[in-house]
Amino acid sequence: MQTHNLGYPRIGAHRELKKACENYWSGKISQADLLDTARQIRSENWKLQKESGIDLIPVNDFSLYDQVLDMSLMVGAIPKRFQALLKQGISPTDLYFAMARGYQKDGLDVVAMEMTKWFDTNYHYIVPEFYENQTFTKTSNKVVEEYKEAKAMGIPAKPVLIGPVSYLLLGKEKGASFDKLELLSSLLPVYLEILKALQQEGANWVQLDEPLLGMDLQDKDNRAFEYAYKVIRDTFPELKILLATYFEGIQHNLKTAVNLPVCALHLDLVRRTQQLEEVMENLPEKTTLSLGVVDGRNIWRNDYEQSLGLINQAVQKLGDGRVFIAPSCSLLHVPYDLALEKDQSADLTEVRQWLAFARQKIDEVVTLKQLATKVGTEEVEAKLRANQKAVESRKVSELIHNSKVKERLKAALTEDAERRNPFAVRKVKQAEALNLNIYPTTTIGSFPQTKEVRRWRRQHKKGELSADAYNQLIEEETEKAIRWQEEVGLDVLVHGEFERNDMVEYFGEQLEGFVFTRYGWVQSYGSRCVKPPIIFGDVSRPEAMTVKWATFAQSLTDKLVKGMLTGPVTILQWSFVRNDQPRAETCRQIAYAIRDEVSDLENHGIKVIQIDEPALREGLPLLRKHWEHYLDWAVSAFRVSASGVQDKTQIHTHMCYSEFNDIIRHIAAMDADVISIETSRSQMELLDAFADFQYPNEIGPGVYDIHSPRIPTSEEMITLLRKATSVLPAEQLWVNPDCGLKTRGWQETREALKRMVEAATGMRELVSDTAL
Ligand code: GLN
Ligand code: ZN
Repeated sequence: MQTHNLGYPRIGAHRELKKACENYWSGKISQADLLDTARQIRSENWKLQKESGIDLIPVNDFSLYDQVLDMSLMVGAIPKRFQALLKQGISPTDLYFAMARGYQKDGLDVVAMEMTKWFDTNYHYIVPEFYENQTFTKTSNKVVEEYKEAKAMGIPAKPVLIGPVSYLLLGKEKGASFDKLELLSSLLPVYLEILKALQQEGANWVQLDEPLLGMDLQDKDNRAFEYAYKVIRDTFPELKILLATYFEGIQHNLKTAVNLPVCALHLDLVRRTQQLEEVMENLPEKTTLSLGVVDGRNIWRNDYEQSLGLINQAVQKLGDGRVFIAPSCSLLHVPYDLALEKDQSADLTEVRQWLAFARQKIDEVVTLKQLATKVGTEEVEAKLRANQKAVESRKVSELIHNSKVKERLKAALTEDAERRNPFAVRKVKQAEALNLNIYPTTTIGSFPQTKEVRRWRRQHKKGELSADAYNQLIEEETEKAIRWQEEVGLDVLVHGEFERNDMVEYFGEQLEGFVFTRYGWVQSYGSRCVKPPIIFGDVSRPEAMTVKWATFAQSLTDKLVKGMLTGPVTILQWSFVRNDQPRAETCRQIAYAIRDEVSDLENHGIKVIQIDEPALREGLPLLRKHWEHYLDWAVSAFRVSASGVQDKTQIHTHMCYSEFNDIIRHIAAMDADVISIETSRSQMELLDAFADFQYPNEIGPGVYDIHSPRIPTSEEMITLLRKATSVLPAEQLWVNPDCGLKTRGWQETREALKRMVEAATGMRELVSDTAL
C-alpha cells in the first residue's frame, strides 16, 4: 500500500507567491527574485510532504499562475497574437504572464487568453485556444526541470500533467469550425516527448489528470481516451501511469475509464463513494486503485473509521499491493495549514477540532495507511481514538446543532416558498405603492469602495478607529451617495454598501453557524485568493443585519431606497459548507435567516428589496442528470427567502453570468418581481432567452458593462434599450448597469449613471411620442 498526493496549494503559506507575482508585475522585484520565491515554495511543500511520510509526492503541481496555462506552454499552444512578443525577445516568463493577463506595453496591445471556472470549484483556469490544423511543439521544459529539482532534493517525485484528452476538451476552438479532438494526433507526440524526457530523468510514476473522465462524454470523447492511452502505453510499456479522475464518479464512463491501459486509476471517493464497488467489479487484474478518501475540496477532518471501511473493502478485493491512499483531488482547493490560525476567535477554538487544511490532510493520508497496515500501532491507535472522539463530538455539539433552527425547518410549510399572490396581482399593487416611471432606473447595489472606505474598515478592525468614528464616516459616505443619486435623477436608490467588506462575509459574520479564518486563503485565479467562510453549524440570525443602514439611507430621502441582501444560494456557494447534512438543508437554513431579514426590512418601511443570487448558476452540478434536483432546491431556497412579504413589496434579484438559456425556466420559477442581469457585453442577445420563454416578470438588462472603465454614450445605451424593447414590452423593462459598481472609481460611475438616466429619459420620450 502506498500513499500519494495529487497536488499541494502553491500560493505559499503566507501568500508569498501572490506577493512576489504582484511585486514582479509592478516592477518592484526582479524575475530572479520571483523565481526564487517559487522555488522556495516548491521545496517547502515537498519537504513537508516527505517528512509527513507521503510515498509519492507530486511535482509540476506548482504553477506561477495556472496549471492549464503551464500545459499550453509545454505543448506550444501559443496563440498567434503573442508571436509579436516573441519577436521582441520577451522572456518565457513574461510571455507566460502576457498570455494570462494580456500585454499593453511598447506600443503593443495583446489581449489575454480567456479564463473560466475549473469544473465546479472557485478556481479559474486559462482556457487553451485551438485553431484548425494547429501543430504543437514542446516549448517549455517545466515539468522536467521541476522533476530534476525535486530529485536533487531526494524527493520521491511523481510528475503531474493534465492528460491529453482533458487538456483538449478543456480548450476552445477558435476560427473555423472544426473539432478540437482532431488535434489529438498532433498533440500526442509532444506528450510522448515529455514523458520520454521524464523517463530518462528517472521518473517511475507519472500522474495524468483526466477529470473529464467523470463528466458527460460523447462517444468520440471515449474513443479519444482509448486512442491516447493506447499510444502512450505502446510507447512506454515500462512507465507507470496513474490516471487521476476527480470531482465526479466514473460509473457513467465505466467501460472506457477502467479499461484504459494504465497502472493505476484514481477515484474521487468523497464525491462519489458508491463508485468503488462497481469500479472494483470491473477493474482489470493488474490495475492499482488509488482511493481518494481525504476530501480535497473541503476543510473537514476525515472520518477515519469511514475511510478505513473503504480502504479495507479495497484491500480485501484487490490485495494490499494494489491499493493507494490519497486525497480526493489536488489540495489546491483548501487552505494551507490550520496551525497558522493562532489568534483565533472563540468560535474557531471549538470548531478547529473538526477541521483539517492541506497540511493536516497530508497527515490524515499517512495515518490512514498506518491504520490500514497496522504499523506504529500504539500511537496510531491513539490518533484513531482522538479522531473518533472528534467525529462523535461533531454529531452532538450544541455549537453545531441548534434545536430551534431544526424545529423551525421541520415545521416549515410549502407555502413558505410562495408569495401570497401571483405576479399579475402583485404587479398592480406594486405599481400603486411605488408609483414608478416607465423604464425605471436603478443600480445593482454597491458604489465605489474607495481606498478611503477600505482604509477606514481596516483601521476599525485593528481598533485604530472607534466604532462610532467608523460608523460616522460610513454614514457620511452613504449620505453623499444618496444625495448624488437624487441629483442625477435615479428612481430607485441604493445605500451603496460602503459598510460591507464582501457580499458573503458581511452576512456570514452576523449569522450564527459561520466561522472565519485569518489565513484560510485559497487561490481563485493567478495571484487572486479568496478566504471563504466556514459554515459549520445550523444557521440562524441573532438580530437584524442590514436594517440599520437601509433605514438610515431611507430616512435621508423621499425616493425609494432598495434594501440589499445576498441570497441563500450565493452564501452557500461561496463558503466551505458543512458535510454532515445535505447542502440543500444548509441552504434552506440560510434561506429562513434571510427571510427574516427581508421581513424586518419590510417592517421598517423598505418597499423594494433585492436578494442577489450571482452564484446560482455556478452551483450547477457537473453532470446534467443532477441539474434538476439542484435547481429545485436552489430555487426553492430563494423563494423561501423572498416570500415572507406583502404583495406590494417588490422583490428584486440580480445575477451576473452570461448563460440563461438552459435554466430560464428555473429563473422564472424564482418569481422575483424584477431581475437584473448582465447583457451589455452580449448586446442584449441574452434577452432572447427571456423573450422566447415569455418571461412574465420585470427585467433590468444591464445597459453598460461595469467591468470596463470605458463609459458608453447615452446613445449607445438607447440603442441597447431599443433592442430590448423590440423583444420585450417596455412595461417589463428596467434600466440599470450590469453589476455592482464597487470596483469602479467615482468619476466614471457618476458620468456613466448620468448618461444612463439620460438614456432612460430618452426612451420615455420615445414611448410617449409613439403613443401619441
Ligand atoms: N449587490 C452586489 C453589488 O452591487 C452584487 C454583486 C454581484 O453581483 N456579484 O456589489
Ligand atoms: Zn453582478
